[in-house]
Amino acid sequence: MLRFLAHRRTSTSRYMLASYSMAAVPKPLVKPDVYYTNLFINNEWHDAISGRTFPSVDPTNGEIIAHVAEGDKADVDIAVKAAREAFRLGSPWRCMDASKRGLLLNRLADLVERDRVYLASLETKDNGKPFAASYAVDLDEVIKVYRYFAGFADKWHGKTIPMDGNHFCYTRHEPVGVCGQIIPWNFPLVMQGWKLAPALATGNTVVMKVAEQTPLSALYVASLIKEAGFPPGVVNIITGYGPTAGAAVARHMDVNKVAFTGSTEVGHLIQQAAGETNLKRVTLELGGKSPSIVLADADLEHAVEQCHEALFFNMGQCCSAGSRTFVEETIYNEFLERTVEKAKLRKVGNPFELDTKHGPQIDKEQFDKILGYIKCSKTEGAKLMCGGERFGDKGFFIKPTVFADVQDNMKIAKEEVFGPVQPVFKFRNIKEVIERANNTRYGLAAGIFTKDLDKAMYFTQALQAGTVWVNTYNIVGCQTPFGGYKESGNGRELGEDGLKSYTEVKTVTIKIPQKNS
Ligand code: ADP
Repeated sequence: MLRFLAHRRTSTSRYMLASYSMAAVPKPLVKPDVYYTNLFINNEWHDAISGRTFPSVDPTNGEIIAHVAEGDKADVDIAVKAAREAFRLGSPWRCMDASKRGLLLNRLADLVERDRVYLASLETKDNGKPFAASYAVDLDEVIKVYRYFAGFADKWHGKTIPMDGNHFCYTRHEPVGVCGQIIPWNFPLVMQGWKLAPALATGNTVVMKVAEQTPLSALYVASLIKEAGFPPGVVNIITGYGPTAGAAVARHMDVNKVAFTGSTEVGHLIQQAAGETNLKRVTLELGGKSPSIVLADADLEHAVEQCHEALFFNMGQCCSAGSRTFVEETIYNEFLERTVEKAKLRKVGNPFELDTKHGPQIDKEQFDKILGYIKCSKTEGAKLMCGGERFGDKGFFIKPTVFADVQDNMKIAKEEVFGPVQPVFKFRNIKEVIERANNTRYGLAAGIFTKDLDKAMYFTQALQAGTVWVNTYNIVGCQTPFGGYKESGNGRELGEDGLKSYTEVKTVTIKIPQKNS
């Protein structure tokens, strides 16, 4: 097996690619070998019981990279059994010191760091995101999240409680059990890390269903999990489709919790599945239609840049994308002009070239859906300022697109496009824009750009969103909770709050013997 030396470490916040020094990004492996294509159960590699496979496709040209095992319910059943056995009282995992769990997570972080160039290259090949982003942003985040939760392994504990009566009372934070985790394709390695790290730090076992569009990097990490020394059955990775393998995880009677990141539509199904089966705990991180609001007093150049990145980062395939840009009417024209200029300059093309900012959409389905939204916006009367069509003649590239004169009742104002389409709206006053910003079924994130502290504070309270950024956007750290209001989900990932849904709180009450009794 080839291994790749770790390259220079970098430190950058997630999504801060614009300010990242390209000099620190090493050369990618433009044709990364694929070593693993099977299901990972009990620290072993398995074909799907059905023997079926499905293709993983390079979105830059539509060519097949590898055929991957198509797991379904039968395979999920076996993986859940393995995870249950690994969770058995007295098992190596259950007997392991919490500090040792932290050590294993740190080892995993070391291994990801060692193979960072390979993993970033594989991610770019399978997903299409620019290598500079894979390496500098995604892998940075992945390494940090394993280390962050490694530190929590022996520090997430209960309390002693001075309850009434003659009793000694304390709480224990116990692992929930077998956790099903279903992840999307837009940040495959990051989403894997966000879910695995808190689950393992707190002593759970996992059956993870990775996205069918991007199975490869997660499988390689599975090999690192084994190499790090996690006992068999603690982490099991299933590749396959949502309605079969994913649904089998969500409906399984012996899965204690499911953590899902993906569309709001599927989020509804996951919650419903829990209700119809064993009421497993459910956390959901779903879609968004997040506003970024620019007041007339904002630093214009900075606001233009941030709103541009807020939408176009990761080709618009970001649940927290700033997909409604609201601009105060007195600066609207100038803001729009600069925004269009910026979108036209964004370099689209081969994601392995280090200065490429914009790769392909993930697959033909998304590509067609986004072009459909663009067509519909033109019909509904929005003004196309740039882009609006495919780039090149192969793969799933779409030019960065800006629409002006967008009205709140248009489809691109209400629905999650998940693509490189920036709709720019005009507003007159603060009361109006807050009402419009909140007038959505989503509530994942929001951004506000102003130099006026009082106004900024007012917005941070008034906006219904799990995260509000002021004079910045898309800054997410593993230390800070992330999640949504309303139909953007429930529960929080990351930070201390991210641990809550991976533990049950057990109250232990002990009678203290009376004196002389
Ligand atoms: P997107 O529309 O962005 O692809 P999805 O919500 O469809 O997002 O997919 C996110 C994850 O959920 C993927 O791993 C996918 O396979 C899985 N998934 C899709 N449909 C279901 C389902 N009915 N039950 C469980 N998981 C599903």
